[in-house]
Amino acid sequence: MGQITVYTGPMYSGKTNLLLGAFERATIAHKKVLAFKPKIDDRFGPNVIKSRRFGEIEAINLTSINDIKKYDADVYIIDEFQFLTGDVLTIVDMCDNQGKTFFISGLDMTAERKPFGLMPELLSYADVVQKCVAICSDCREEKAIYSYFLGKKDTDILVGNSEYIPLCRECYAKRLKIDIAHEEKFNDR
Ligand SMILES: [Zn+2]
Repeated sequence: MGQITVYTGPMYSGKTNLLLGAFERATIAHKKVLAFKPKIDDRFGPNVIKSRRFGEIEAINLTSINDIKKYDADVYIIDEFQFLTGDVLTIVDMCDNQGKTFFISGLDMTAERKPFGLMPELLSYADVVQKCVAICSDCREEKAIYSYFLGKKDTDILVGNSEYIPLCRECYAKRLKIDIAHEEKFNDR
């Protein structure tokens, strides 16, 4: 039997470090490991997953999770899962019927705190879910579960870390209040 492990949480919560740690352990165990990432994420240039702690590894670009069937490995590493399309049951089937193991990371929520893409479904099917927290950008406590966008946005796409900060519940609520107040002031004019 295979297994699905998911590392989730906001930006800067160390998800990719955990993912690359899993990659390293599987490699040491002489498993055949392949890494994947969505085509949309070109933050670190094409075809690599990069972390400050583990350096970078080569990754195959995917758009739909359905295409992962085409690649043969024992262990599949997938970064930024929230950007993928397709059917989550593709990997559930590979896990159940072919004994494949998956380590997956992704943002659980958009900057508007909505469940992100296929992540809710993935979390439902996972054997192990590790919810990571980041250091809150405003109060510096280690309890940030939200990614907050600092500018104007019109899509769910969270690419390019610099415009996002991790916030805890309290600080997110405070920022939201300030934003709404600004908006009301602007609309009254
Ligand atoms: Zn805070």
